[in-house]
Amino acid sequence: MTLDDGFAVGTSGHLLYEGIDVAELAEQVPTPFYLYSGRRIRANVEAIRGAFSARHAASEIFFASKACSNLWFLRQVYDAGANVEVNSGGELAKALCAGFAPDQIVFNGVAKTEAEIAAAIEAGIRSLIIDSLFEIERAASVAAALARRVAVALRVDVDVPTHTHPGLATTHGGKAGIDLDDAVPAFARAAATGWLDVRGLHVHIGSQITSVEPYVSALERSLELMQRLEGESGLRLEELNLGGGLAVPYRQEPACAADDYFCCTLTPDDYAAAICAVLERRRSDLKLLMEPGRAIAGTTAILVTRVEGEKTKAVRDESGRRTAEERWLVIDAGANTLLEHTNYDWYFRTVVANRADRAAATPFRLAGPLCDGGDVFAGDDGSAFRRFPAETTAGDVIAFRDCGAYTLEMMHPYNARPCAAAYAVVDGQVVQIRRADSFDDLVAHDIAEGAPLAERGTLPK
Ligand code: PLP
Repeated sequence: MTLDDGFAVGTSGHLLYEGIDVAELAEQVPTPFYLYSGRRIRANVEAIRGAFSARHAASEIFFASKACSNLWFLRQVYDAGANVEVNSGGELAKALCAGFAPDQIVFNGVAKTEAEIAAAIEAGIRSLIIDSLFEIERAASVAAALARRVAVALRVDVDVPTHTHPGLATTHGGKAGIDLDDAVPAFARAAATGWLDVRGLHVHIGSQITSVEPYVSALERSLELMQRLEGESGLRLEELNLGGGLAVPYRQEPACAADDYFCCTLTPDDYAAAICAVLERRRSDLKLLMEPGRAIAGTTAILVTRVEGEKTKAVRDESGRRTAEERWLVIDAGANTLLEHTNYDWYFRTVVANRADRAAATPFRLAGPLCDGGDVFAGDDGSAFRRFPAETTAGDVIAFRDCGAYTLEMMHPYNARPCAAAYAVVDGQVVQIRRADSFDDLVAHDIAEGAPLAERGTLPK
């Protein structure tokens, strides 16, 4: 039985992901682990690139590597023909290591260090995205010290409201970008430094943007700004970078409420049609750059976990009287493996992989293993409960869907729990793309004896 793209139920009643029996794989390798799909990465890159380039030939896709900077993943993105966006010196190094050419890389960030700017200039990247008036001076002085001009775009906060998780909104009160009122003088100042080649305007309005209207508003504001800029300073820009934000359908009908930002019915074609229609009408000469992260990586992986504990606990009213009971399942992955579940209360759909053919109708509370009362997963339909088959029990394997973006990337070893391994299905075979941390890794950076700075030669200058 085919469920939807990449998912099916085998004759054993088990969940198949890209043809792989997930419960069986969990018998062969320790849980928790991520399981990526090479096919899905290529399909997502091609769908987004095709949607934009069919409607506006001069468009390019830069994968936002903050969504997943695993080297194997980056190589798939490179092979699928996308460029890359980086947000730190570390992401720059990883992108180069994965094989991207410097002119395929744009570098964003709200607090780039002088060393990061120098590394970007020395590598010869496509453009540095300047985030503030302060950073104009910093980038110009680093470029001057290296005696190398650098191509830049200026990121402007076009102040467009969006309906997304508050932690994912970047305009309208957010920290990123140059204030709209300062934009024209900022471009003029950047050009006047003599060290910055001002190529474009950058506008990223946030992540998981589930409607096209904010993009259209941001684009219209950007074009107005460009017009003013040309009138007032004579600068003509060749590129407009509209950032990322294309959404992933984390929740699906019938659970979807219209204002639920986990729901998205838009396809890449819908975003591209709305954006390119305005661009073609008003500035068809502009190069369009897009920086999707979530929409490329989100649907490309599942997280496979095992139930390691179960219990029933009473619900009591204020007088202490027992009013109900809740069945709890505790799995081996919590916020250490899937951080967004606690820091953003993010919702990822779940399937009991070894009971995928059973009706999932019984409510359970689902928790992670951390010694942290907040390590409890959001329920289905905005409730506190997940619905699983009634027999679900310790030893069962639970898979979280759509876990490819901002997940592997955000793992951390809280409670001294080793970060998980990752695998991928490539042409029907499972390959390992990240090894799990070992206990040696957990102490590798600790210095038990407390080494004096001077002896280690790391005294700050
Ligand atoms: N570009 C910039 C500047 C970002 O800050 C982000 C993430 O917030 C992205 C692109 C990628 O966003 P998303 O993963 O929602 O496509």
